[in-house]
This record gives sequence, C-alpha cells and structure tokens, in this order.
Amino acid sequence: MQLLTPEFYRLRLIALSAAAATLVCAPRAAAQEDLQALYESLQAPFNLQLGGRPPWNTVNVTIHHVAGGIYQIRGEGGNIGMSVGEDGIILIDDQFAPLTEKIMAAIRSVSDAPIRFLINTHVHDDHVGGNVFFAERGAMILAHERVRLRMMEGIRGNPPLAREAWPVLTFNDPITLHFNGEDVRVFPVPPAHTDGDSYVHFTGTNVLHLGDVFRTTSYPNIDVGNGGTYQGTVDALQIAIDLAGPDTLLIPGHGAVSTREAAIELRDLAIEVHRRVAEHLQQGMTYEEIIAAKPTADLDERWGPRLDRLLPGIYLDLTQ
Ligand SMILES: [Zn+2]
Repeated sequence: MQLLTPEFYRLRLIALSAAAATLVCAPRAAAQEDLQALYESLQAPFNLQLGGRPPWNTVNVTIHHVAGGIYQIRGEGGNIGMSVGEDGIILIDDQFAPLTEKIMAAIRSVSDAPIRFLINTHVHDDHVGGNVFFAERGAMILAHERVRLRMMEGIRGNPPLAREAWPVLTFNDPITLHFNGEDVRVFPVPPAHTDGDSYVHFTGTNVLHLGDVFRTTSYPNIDVGNGGTYQGTVDALQIAIDLAGPDTLLIPGHGAVSTREAAIELRDLAIEVHRRVAEHLQQGMTYEEIIAAKPTADLDERWGPRLDRLLPGIYLDLTQ
C-alpha cells in the first residue's frame, strides 16, 4: 500500500500526539520537535550531576519468582517480566542490547521453552534494547502503536531503530493473549510516562506489570518529549489502583515488586508535588524560582534527585 511509508507513519505520529495532547492536556497541538525542545529547556535549570550507566560487564542479571509462572528479571534498566508455562514464554521488556546474553542465561536457568511473545511497555532504550536479539530468536514483538511509530521515526533526534526491533503487532485498544492457562490482558493507558504506555495484567496469577508509569525508586517520571503527561500519569496510576486487589502484585518499571499501596503512594506523591508547584505559581514565581525554592526538600531524601523528570510535566499541565 502506497500510504504505509515512513512519511505516512511520521505524519500519523504527529497527528496522534497532537490528538493526545488535546485530549489529555489543555487544547494545544504542538509538534513533537517543539515538545522535545520545551522539555529539554525545562530540564536544563536543574543541572544535575548524575552518574551514567555502569560498564555492561559489571552488570549482574538475576531472576526472581513473583507468583505462579511469573518471574521478574533484574539487571540494568527496566524490570523484565516473564510468564513461563506449557505454551512457552512471554517476555515484557528486555533492557539493553549488551545485556541480552545474560538475560537469556537468566531465562534459561528457569525454562528451555521458546520465547513466543515480547511485549514492550513503552519505547525507552532501557526497555527495548534487546528487541533485535529476541526477535531474531523467534519472539513476536507487541506494543502500543505509538511505540512502533517512535521507533520508525527515531527517538529524540536519533536515527530510526533497526527494523527488526519494531513491533510486529501493534494495538490501540486492549488485547488478550490466552497463554499459559490464563488470560493476559495487554492494554494502553492514557499518555503518562510516554504516549505509548501499556500495562500487562496476568489475570489468573493476579500480577500487573506497569512499565515505567509505576516505580518505587524515584519521583514519577513524565517524559514530555515522548508524549508523557501529568494528568495521564495520575489517571494511569488510578487505573492500576482500581484494577488491583489487596493481593495483586505490581511489577514496577524500576524498583521492587509491590502492592497497590505503593501505587497509591506514588499517585498521592504526584498530586502533592503538583499542588505545591501550583501554589508557587500562584505566588507569581517563575519556573526557575520554583526550582530554587526547593518545593520538595522534605521529600527528596525518600524519592531522590530526579525531580527534573517530574517537574516539567507538572509545569506544562499548569501552564499550557
Ligand atoms: Zn521509561
């Protein structure tokens, strides 16, 4: 079909992003380039001196049982989820390309079954870096339509990802895999961490993988440059809270397996920081003055230094 060219997908990405921005934020339709530039300018005043990634050969990849046939694999980057059973293996995310052999060794320490499906919760490189490796070994990659669009477009000015990394099956509505004796619901949530976030719900074993919308290690991370929004973050966390029962286990994008109490805590944290920033804005303070006033000084010890990943999304929500 003539329409299905990279240019078609580029235009579709812009149209979808504009539509999402209109739906979720105040009415606006900024192009992705504008949003990225705005995001970077809002992050710049922090001037944080943060460490980079450790050398790959020092990364220890470990596998942990969660419940039933569900496992969590930890290394560097986003938590990997895994379902193992009679139908084979589903992976959720795959960290970085240089770690794939170690990840495969961790998988094979539990099962020799084929890896049938690989679900990307969103487009960040610490969640999709192993895509080519696992696709070449037979996994079908599934993701929200916008994950594929962003890979084809190139993320943050980078060249497009290798074609083999692109999801083969994309969706905009919930889908269900009937696999390993349970219904596995994969569904998009409002633009939160990015505009291509999906949750994975193992309905039988009662486990939810929430990607980077949910984390236990830092403030909520809203990647405005990739279409993330404050309101979508609160709404998506609410979806997880509503879906989870007291015994549901939540696998975060980063951090330890948790329960819905931790999702409630993160939602309330986002709302509290939003409230404080709104208060400062009402006093007539500029963005730089708000940062200088350290509005979260009492929270930073628990939630760490990466307020620069939350504040731009809150600021845009309040000012756009
Ligand atoms: Zn992420």
